[in-house]
Amino acid sequence: MEINKLIEELDKIRTYKGSKIGASLKKPLFLLLLISLIEGGKVKRNKFYFPDIERELDLLIRTFGGRVGKGKPEQPFHHLNSSIIWDIHVPYGTRFSNKETLPISVLRDPETYGYINNEIFKLLSSDNIARAEAAQFILGKYWPETVQKDIADLLNLPVKAISKQKRDRNFVDKVLANYRHKCAICGFSSLFNQVPFGLDAAHIQWHAYGGPDNLGNGLALCKLHHWALDRGVVTIEPDKFEIILSSKFVAQEEISISFLENIKGSKLQQFRDVPPDKRFMAWHNENVFVL
Ligand SMILES: [Zn+2]
Repeated sequence: MEINKLIEELDKIRTYKGSKIGASLKKPLFLLLLISLIEGGKVKRNKFYFPDIERELDLLIRTFGGRVGKGKPEQPFHHLNSSIIWDIHVPYGTRFSNKETLPISVLRDPETYGYINNEIFKLLSSDNIARAEAAQFILGKYWPETVQKDIADLLNLPVKAISKQKRDRNFVDKVLANYRHKCAICGFSSLFNQVPFGLDAAHIQWHAYGGPDNLGNGLALCKLHHWALDRGVVTIEPDKFEIILSSKFVAQEEISISFLENIKGSKLQQFRDVPPDKRFMAWHNENVFVL
């Protein structure tokens, strides 16, 4: 199989992708884990046993899967079989329906395993460029750039560059000007060689999930707070514009306390022309922010 054909198949994967993240990041995370295992040379045969990857997949989903309660790694392990990429072998006589996820006891049965389509497995195990392109495609389709990098680093994925999502060329300039070149959360503002330094224009509702390139969906943020927003460490309360911090976040030293703990409950910096739109903040609250 050619890499282009694989990308087409990756693009077809059903993830219930509307504007809600819901469970839609589970299959992409599972695919990235498979690529990472092959990349790491840990895969000798095209057989993947659920107990071998259960914990890692669970942690991946809870860390990068958006607002999910439990990881439920059994879901992508089973349901990726709706794509031609993946299939699952169960013990003889097991009741199998794609409407219900297989019970954990079946998935942990020594006779149960999943396997990648043979042609795709051959391509992924023999061609490091194909692995890189496949990983890059999946990351770019579902996550903002800040998070793509975190996932690629954690899984040691062979991506060459982080996929830049297409955006309106003026988006960055307009957003930074709307916050007077200050981080909307902490007020950080600086110049390097007379050019504003260390500030990004962040999308509140992720671009990959329909967030538009307009001022109501943009925040000027320093690198740390951009990353904290995209990872769901902070969010903004849509009515009072108050900054909320995830209960999962623990600051360990003075400096982290001042960067993140102390902003809890403070108000967003004053915008110049256009306030952030409530709909996008509500989307972020419900889909990305980790309670
Ligand atoms: Zn900041």
